[in-house]
Amino acid sequence: MADLEFKAVSKAFGKTIVVHDLNLRIKDGELFVLLGPSGCGKSTILRLIAGLEYLDEGEILINGRAINNVAPKDRNVAMVFQNYALYPHMTIYDNLAFPLKVKKFPGDQIREIVQKQAGLLGLTELLERKPKTLSGGQRQRVALGRALVRNPSVFLFDEPLSNLDAKLRVSTRAEISSLQRTLNATMIYVTHDQEEALSLGDRIAILNEGRIQQIGSPQEIYDQPANVFTASFVGSPRINLLEARISDDSVIAIGNDAEVPIAESWRRTLHNGKTEFVVLGIRPENLFYQRHNQDDLVLKTEVLHTEFAGDRHVLFCTLGNEELRVKSGKAIPSEEGEKIELFVNPQNCLLFDGKNGERIL
Ligand code: ADP
Ligand code: MG
Repeated sequence: MADLEFKAVSKAFGKTIVVHDLNLRIKDGELFVLLGPSGCGKSTILRLIAGLEYLDEGEILINGRAINNVAPKDRNVAMVFQNYALYPHMTIYDNLAFPLKVKKFPGDQIREIVQKQAGLLGLTELLERKPKTLSGGQRQRVALGRALVRNPSVFLFDEPLSNLDAKLRVSTRAEISSLQRTLNATMIYVTHDQEEALSLGDRIAILNEGRIQQIGSPQEIYDQPANVFTASFVGSPRINLLEARISDDSVIAIGNDAEVPIAESWRRTLHNGKTEFVVLGIRPENLFYQRHNQDDLVLKTEVLHTEFAGDRHVLFCTLGNEELRVKSGKAIPSEEGEKIELFVNPQNCLLFDGKNGERIL
């Protein structure tokens, strides 16, 4: 297997820069997730690794060796796509055998490798069938198998599960994860789905408009987002981001008619004289109906409406001219239109610079 490094890689299409000065090191045996909204450059980054696009600046290295001038077929990377890209007229066996035939492996060796991978992926019973007779999940497993038989240094996954229904997505996700651990393979997995990224990744890089916003473990990304983009991209329901102004020594004003006292633990950060506008970030699960700590902040809100989500409710409340999302238990202790107080521990709040969106606390 292999480690993979980007050094100051940039790529433009015409005048549009799609990848900006990308620096990244993916470790041997790591499942690394690239997460970002549609159009942020994820597929382009994979295509640069596979050699399907040329970079404009910088270097990509596999095991320390620059691959800029290595032909795609000699890079030893395998890519799995959302649309499977299986050969429709070939049987599953022939689909799996194809990359080996191209490489002129002897027939008995091909048989051995295909049988082994088919067994690993639960495809043994399906080898004589054609792709169109398979379910989406089975087809995706064949696509995976076709990548595996090549024994590549690096696997690239481009939103491989987005064509599957929700249940299959979760089970195939678990299969990929366990396969990755069994093989100890280096995998780069692209998705726009934050839940998929959090559940799969050893580490995640969050991308926006071709720039890395943050690299970290799922826990770090969730608990310590680098900026408001990362904070709002990860987590469901979305984090509450309240635009606030430090109005005097003791309170910050939220919108026009709400304010919260400045918590003791925020003072040093906020009273440096430089910060006037901040964004207060509160995850929906950190808002409670009851006080838990003496220094909890109190938000006076009104319930707008509630959403049922099976195991819980999501409450939407107004706070001044802002809307708050609150993750609630199975029971909702309040009705629409009711005025309620919500409590949050200041330790569980995030503070961002109101001008550039960087996290300050
Ligand atoms: P993602 O996979 O994150 O959705 P892509 O990497 O596919 O994003 O695309 C990033 C940006 O580059 C998009 O704005 C897309 O329109 C543009 N783009 C991608 N491929 C080409 C191309 N071959 N020619 C011109 N623009 C492209
Ligand atoms: Mg894409």
